[in-house]
Amino acid sequence: MNVPAIERRGGGHAAEADVLIVGGGPAGSVLAGLLAQQDIDTVVLDRATFPRPKPCGEYLNPGVVAVLDRLGLLGAVLRTEPARISGWKMMTGSGVTATGRYAPTAPHGLGIQRSAVDEALVCEAKRRGARVVERVKVHGLRVAPSGERHAVTVEAVNGQGRPVAWKARIVVGADGLRSVVARRLGLVRRRPGVRKVSLTCRLKGTGPPRGDGRLFLTGWGTVGLAPVHASEPLWNGTVVVYVDRGARDLVTDPLGWFLAALRQAPFRWDGDGPEVVGGPWASGPFDWALRDAVSDRVLLVGDAAGSFDPLTGQGMFQAFRSAELAAPIIVRAVRCGRSAAADLVDYRRALSRLLRPTRVLQRVIEAAVSRNWAREIAVTRLRAAEPFMDRLVQVVGDTLPVHSLVRPDALLSVLNRAAVQS
Ligand SMILES: Cc1cc2nc3c(=O)[nH]c(=O)nc-3n(C[C@H](O)[C@H](O)[C@H](O)COP(=O)(O)OP(=O)(O)OC[C@H]3O[C@@H](n4cnc5c(N)ncnc54)[C@H](O)[C@@H]3O)c2cc1C
Repeated sequence: MNVPAIERRGGGHAAEADVLIVGGGPAGSVLAGLLAQQDIDTVVLDRATFPRPKPCGEYLNPGVVAVLDRLGLLGAVLRTEPARISGWKMMTGSGVTATGRYAPTAPHGLGIQRSAVDEALVCEAKRRGARVVERVKVHGLRVAPSGERHAVTVEAVNGQGRPVAWKARIVVGADGLRSVVARRLGLVRRRPGVRKVSLTCRLKGTGPPRGDGRLFLTGWGTVGLAPVHASEPLWNGTVVVYVDRGARDLVTDPLGWFLAALRQAPFRWDGDGPEVVGGPWASGPFDWALRDAVSDRVLLVGDAAGSFDPLTGQGMFQAFRSAELAAPIIVRAVRCGRSAAADLVDYRRALSRLLRPTRVLQRVIEAAVSRNWAREIAVTRLRAAEPFMDRLVQVVGDTLPVHSLVRPDALLSVLNRAAVQS
């Protein structure tokens, strides 16, 4: 096998780091900052130049706000002037609407501009001492037998199209959906099952009241709308569609397709409707299931560690929390010089505890919204049982545990209210 030349930095030294992070999105940059703070020599490689667009609903749930606060990053995010989001409205094609609110005592959510927030997080990682190298696209990864100090080699192409290689003691895959790191190590369990794709646009216009996010749920998919600036009339519009239920024209005329989908949603706009000032940006499919988030000398964080569906808006929570969970385990591994899969197993356990209940709930929600009859019944019942709807929004807002939804009092509140209504 041909090994690409190792780029020489500073006129002679091989490019090496204790920890190499592939991907400088939220998961990668937050982890880089946490490691650099602990004096771990950390390098981030990203194929993009920041700021870069990222298809996203651009909503940070209250759980993320709490994590950002704990990690000392909330100030950097607030400087991008996000909108405050205090709950979500779900609307169906037949006109049923259910609204859930965050607890007044918990943090609210934020509508953000991803490109600005991601850039702020990369700057913060640099400020804390991490090295960030942009325009480097990673395509290969080799793990040498133990004994070698910098045992993992990452192969990439730089901005000038030249092959480069970096060596590290530990590599972290933070390279999002379709992670190259996960694929090269054979960690992907199967190809995506739920076949959906998405289009996202930045909109400008005077629209519905700005305090809530909105989700229009239909047979062919979902239209999400959220404000993304504290004072300017800027919005995120995201359409997620089942590939086999009407995505055919999406490739030939994405903007026309997006606008047609947006017009179907019952969002009230002044005048002729919003102006599209950014996008459309496409993404998908989403349902990437992994065998493991840990391998010898390698960990996966954020979307690279697995994703299900963007509907509940919990991806950023997974990104920040997985980085927070991985950091102390990586610091320990680097300091002890032990980074075999068995030495990283605490991360696998912690991540599994974090994600397993969330995935179960996300599958239940997907099962309900993807069927016309189930969606109508579910939203009608949620409308009737306001406290349960609030609790659901708080659970997917990552401020309450999933099991709080199956407490007898919570379930009874849905059944009783539904009975009273009928
Ligand atoms: C349509 C849509 C809507 C969403 N809405 C929400 C929402 O409202 N709220 C929410 O919390 N989550 C949402 N998500 C999920 C959220 O966007 C992701 O969970 C989050 O971006 C994950 O962060 P990350 O750092 O793991 O990956 P990313 O943000 O994807 O970052 C990965 C980085 O890796 C880099 N990279 C990739 N491959 C390579 C390579 N080969 N070499 C070098 N660099 C590479 C990329 O350039 C990128 O900068 C949504 C997702 C989609 C698709």
